[in-house]
Amino acid sequence: MTRTKRGRKEESPFNFPLQIGDPKLREISKKVENYDDLGKIVEEMKSVARKYDALGLAAPQIGINQRIILLTLQNGKEKIFVNPVIIGKSSKIVPSIEGCLSVPALVASVPRHESIRLKAFDFGKGKEVTEDFKEEDSFCLQHEIDHLNGILFLDRVEEKEMIKN
Ligand SMILES: [Zn+2]
Repeated sequence: MTRTKRGRKEESPFNFPLQIGDPKLREISKKVENYDDLGKIVEEMKSVARKYDALGLAAPQIGINQRIILLTLQNGKEKIFVNPVIIGKSSKIVPSIEGCLSVPALVASVPRHESIRLKAFDFGKGKEVTEDFKEEDSFCLQHEIDHLNGILFLDRVEEKEMIKN
């Protein structure tokens, strides 16, 4: 996920990551079974996220249909979650202003659960964790987990309130 305030560099949108229209963005990603091979994928995801100044990135965005997401939390910590599952969510829905590396030059208001409870393998900690996230962190997690299910943020836009980035 990207944010307007962070801006986005003017680079060719057709190199990396994959762009809307690519069928790989619409696949249901596979659960990771073998954690031993994660290192290389994680390094590649980190490199792309940094290059494009992304708050979050999902493995299918770099053509790898496995359930791995990266995000930078509001506290500045970078997290890699493997096989993330939302096991609880607030009933309160709030608007989240989002952009996406795979949907260039568009920003829109997306309805998201204000908070979620996540269960995932935390790559940095090397163990399974259950954690609660709210607001920006929660929105970013919902956005990235959507990617694992072939959903793009535009699919959830109710008001056609597109803002040019
Ligand atoms: Zn995205």
